[in-house]
Amino acid sequence: MTIHIAGAGMAGLCSAARARELGLDVVVHEKGPRPGGSMLLSSCVVWRYLDLESFRRECPGGDADLQRAVIERLDEGLEWLRSLGAPVVWEETGNPRTIGLRFEPAGLTDALVRAAGVDIRFGELPPADAKPLLLATGGFQGDRSLVAKSVAPGGDLLLRANRWSTGDGLRLAHERGAGLTEAMGEFYGRAMPAPPAEVPEERFVELAQLYGRHALVLDEDGEEFAPEPVSWSETDLVQAIARRRGATAWYLVDEDALEVEVRGRTVRQMIEAARTAGGDVLLPNELGIELPATYRYAVHVIAGITTTLGGIRIDDRAHVLDEEGEPIAGLYAAGADAGGIASGGYASGLASALVIGRTAAETLAAE
Ligand SMILES: Cc1cc2nc3c(=O)[nH]c(=O)nc-3n(C[C@H](O)[C@H](O)[C@H](O)COP(=O)(O)OP(=O)(O)OC[C@H]3O[C@@H](n4cnc5c(N)ncnc54)[C@H](O)[C@@H]3O)c2cc1C
Repeated sequence: MTIHIAGAGMAGLCSAARARELGLDVVVHEKGPRPGGSMLLSSCVVWRYLDLESFRRECPGGDADLQRAVIERLDEGLEWLRSLGAPVVWEETGNPRTIGLRFEPAGLTDALVRAAGVDIRFGELPPADAKPLLLATGGFQGDRSLVAKSVAPGGDLLLRANRWSTGDGLRLAHERGAGLTEAMGEFYGRAMPAPPAEVPEERFVELAQLYGRHALVLDEDGEEFAPEPVSWSETDLVQAIARRRGATAWYLVDEDALEVEVRGRTVRQMIEAARTAGGDVLLPNELGIELPATYRYAVHVIAGITTTLGGIRIDDRAHVLDEEGEPIAGLYAAGADAGGIASGGYASGLASALVIGRTAAETLAAE
């Protein structure tokens, strides 16, 4: 029996590599021309919260069984990646809330492709009736109309992800009777320099503007709207920007904030990066609003979408569930296609892709 995997990103490759170890026969279909999906473009920090309690607190809308699976199975998954030869560049995340490893993304992709040992069929979708089928197509952030409908943005979002994840997994699962999770409008993203800035994919990490909680945030009408307080990950702020007119905002930065460090970079360096991309970095008085003289910069940002957080309903063995919560025979999902893990907050998409991707192979072997 041949198992079809749709998607050669983090979840699909982890699943294919684990399937090979378990002696399964696998075919990987990849819509794009290269392996690695969004993982290849990412910072590649694969992490989890310290315990289930903090995961529940940070992501209260998420499914507790799936969250427990990530907490219990991630460390083994990380050691497995290391054993496959994936290059580790940080032994810790640098965030006291979390533990994990940072990998070098091209090296991780190579290690997984090698371990999977299958010919990846590039530019190819799985046959519509493929069975068993693992959906690992990476979410629906690349489909503008679905995003407009579910995320309800105030304007077009900047796509900060691979171009091919356009909801194919979601549509196929829906056709086979799958249920969807709640919170289909939530997403993980970053504030990015707004047009006319040029944001090529190789600058996705570098151009992120991660200092919204150290800035005064105004929408295009000069209104303050940021959540209070803004969360440490700023995912809530980026979602709020997505719903304002134009999906854009102004970050007004006081001189005291300029030397604040966020994940190894100062606010000043992030603003400088926005300027080098051709983004609007103005003096606050150029916005025509009255502010204390200590404000130095007004940076125009747009909500960038990286992965959708809602999606196909699964159980903790990667079975796709129907609306009644019953498994659909022969259908599995992992990675961003499977929703409901980080709802209400933010968690590592790479971690859930690794854990549920590996689990899917183990479930298939057992069945
Ligand atoms: C700039 C950036 C920084 C990030 N930083 C981090 C980080 O530090 N830590 C973290 O945890 N996460 C991070 N992420 C998010 C992380 O990359 C994703 O959560 C993760 O890659 C999701 O895994 P996936 O397998 O679901 O999707 P992907 O890795 O994107 O793979 C999906 C694959 O499916 C393919 N595909 C789409 N449709 C089809 C189809 N119909 N048939 C076949 N193939 C299809 C796509 O081409 C793609 O190759 C970051 C992402 C970006 C873009």
